[in-house]
Amino acid sequence: MTVMKIYEKKFVKWISFFLACGIFFGACSTDKKTGPVSDYIFGTVCTVNLFEDGTKENYEKIFSRLRKIDDTFSVKKSTSQISLINQNAGRQSVTVSQEVFDLLKICVDAYGRTDGSFNPALGSLINLWAIGTDREKVPAASEIENAKSHCNPKDIFFVEETDAEGKKIFLCGINDPLTQIDLGGVVKGYAADEIVKMLKNYSIKKAVINLGGNVYVFGKKNENAPEEKWNVGIKNPFDPNSEPIKIVALDESSVVTSGAYERFFISGGKKYHHIIDPKTGFPSESGIASVTIISRSSCLCDILSTAYFVAGNDCNYKEKFSGEEIKVIFILNDGEIVEN
Ligand code: AMP
Ligand code: MG
Repeated sequence: MTVMKIYEKKFVKWISFFLACGIFFGACSTDKKTGPVSDYIFGTVCTVNLFEDGTKENYEKIFSRLRKIDDTFSVKKSTSQISLINQNAGRQSVTVSQEVFDLLKICVDAYGRTDGSFNPALGSLINLWAIGTDREKVPAASEIENAKSHCNPKDIFFVEETDAEGKKIFLCGINDPLTQIDLGGVVKGYAADEIVKMLKNYSIKKAVINLGGNVYVFGKKNENAPEEKWNVGIKNPFDPNSEPIKIVALDESSVVTSGAYERFFISGGKKYHHIIDPKTGFPSESGIASVTIISRSSCLCDILSTAYFVAGNDCNYKEKFSGEEIKVIFILNDGEIVEN
């Protein structure tokens, strides 16, 4: 793909985003005093609306945290902590921050709880397909088989040490030199939760966070009418720039969607999207056009949106992630909406 084509893709994304905002924020516009503010982070458009607490200083603090999270976790940045672990795979562990250590542990644990559908060690397959880059192509079957054999999260290891001054040191490494970590399926959810922590610390009353479709509606929509819900639109996976296929009325929660329409290419008349089934090594084909997860933890929503997209609507992970109320909305390929 040429540079021009990449530029066009980003431009189309921005346009789609503003259309989506018109739908989403339009419903909230009566309360708005300043903002919303948008920036391009995590390879997508991120928008935050702080309503009456929307000072320049608050926005700056939030966007600087978002950029820091991207700098820490992005595999597209060679100096990120995840890239450093990957570059040292099969050789040595590297010192990481506690947040990297903790999120990686959550992801490896989620691999077990989702029977392998969510896999944080899928980097070799994701790099091979290269979807959304100028290298995207259908790989040879032998290449897929080979990459698939280097995707075991059990090869990620963790070491916790205490230095001479009693300070904790966190180390992380990969045993297999060809295994690579990719947290693209969780990092926006993690980031949304981190922003919610900041909102609580700064006593911000209400906010809407939208990190490329990972949404968090925070606080009461209307302080004077506490029963009033937030309305969040679920994109139509068959026509993402049209009206939402469904609107959900919610109290404070995160709403995260994984969909085949987000990033894909077409080859030989067949669509290849960006969510890989670790069992086949191919983009998942579970009969789902999109799946939306609603819960108080955006990190959990993000993990589950990817996992359910791979596993399909016959699957139920709710008991495996007890503690949070979880709602799942599938849009099947034939348009049927299944909720559980
Ligand atoms: P999401 O849009 O949240 O479903 O995340 C998709 C992104 O997660 C992809 O672009 C990859 O970076 C990564 N990914 C793809 N397949 C998987 C999988 N089965 N488990 C974990 N991460 C994945
Ligand atoms: Mg996800």
